[in-house]
Amino acid sequence: MKLSSSPIDKITFRNHTFFVKRDDLLDKDFSGNKARKFYYYLINDFPHINKVVSYGSSQSNAMYSLSVLAKLKGWKFYYFVDHISSYLKENPHGNYKAALKNGMIIYENRKDLMNELIKRKDTIFIKEGGAMKEAEEGVKILAKEIIVWAKERGFEDMNLFLPSGTGTTALFLQKYLPFSVFTSATVGDKNYLKKQFFELEDEKYHPKILKLDKKYHFGKLYPEFYAIWRDLKRETGIEFDLLYDPKGWMTLLNYLNLLKDKPILYIHQGGLIGNESMKLRYERKLKEK
Ligand SMILES: *Cc1c(COP(=O)(O)O)cnc(C)c1O
Repeated sequence: MKLSSSPIDKITFRNHTFFVKRDDLLDKDFSGNKARKFYYYLINDFPHINKVVSYGSSQSNAMYSLSVLAKLKGWKFYYFVDHISSYLKENPHGNYKAALKNGMIIYENRKDLMNELIKRKDTIFIKEGGAMKEAEEGVKILAKEIIVWAKERGFEDMNLFLPSGTGTTALFLQKYLPFSVFTSATVGDKNYLKKQFFELEDEKYHPKILKLDKKYHFGKLYPEFYAIWRDLKRETGIEFDLLYDPKGWMTLLNYLNLLKDKPILYIHQGGLIGNESMKLRYERKLKEK
């Protein structure tokens, strides 16, 4: 299986023009940022492998995409979490439900078993969120698609923006693009993100990190996040992700004066199955008020 290139839309939001790379439309099942990051595993052959093991949260986009990858490859997928809420167990939804449907075998609080499994030669181990060197291959293709598009459009220079989790995508994009890549930290702060960059590459490839004055905690619900997400959907017709994109767009708008001298390309990194659980959480929170 190969992935075809994702489209780029031109949108207007709050009276400014932006281009959006629609990686949410990359493929019906294997899409978004995690499809780029796991592409290396998709296209290469691993004759001795029959299992993939990873860990993280019970609603993560990486978990879902690994379940798709495992299904495509005919591998078993073992996923380890600290805890699954009783609500989620009783009402499976979002990435959790979709990954179970793909055959994910999930364990709670069994790091011992995970450490056993990952020693095996027939098993690939993937770090939380796919923060790994192997992600380079797929992100490099994303960069190439952007370069081809910019040439067609006649854009000699551009500013790119994408929100980061582990920073892996932003970093490899900057490595392969002749344009400036700007990002914001969503998991942890600017120092965490900088450290993540250093784990993968020299400083010359590091994207520029933009920050807001207010501190936001990953996965927490903020009325202003929901508001910008809803406005984006209303004004552009595009559904963005509710975990990374609200802070991403708020940061981008905050620094518009710095970036608007060139065409701005925002990378939509998918995550829409995860929105199901985020929407439920926001609806419950907004109802309480
Ligand atoms: C994983 C993810 C990110 C963060 O990607 P990193 O490479 O970890 O920075 C951003 N947006 C979405 C929708 C994601 O699934």
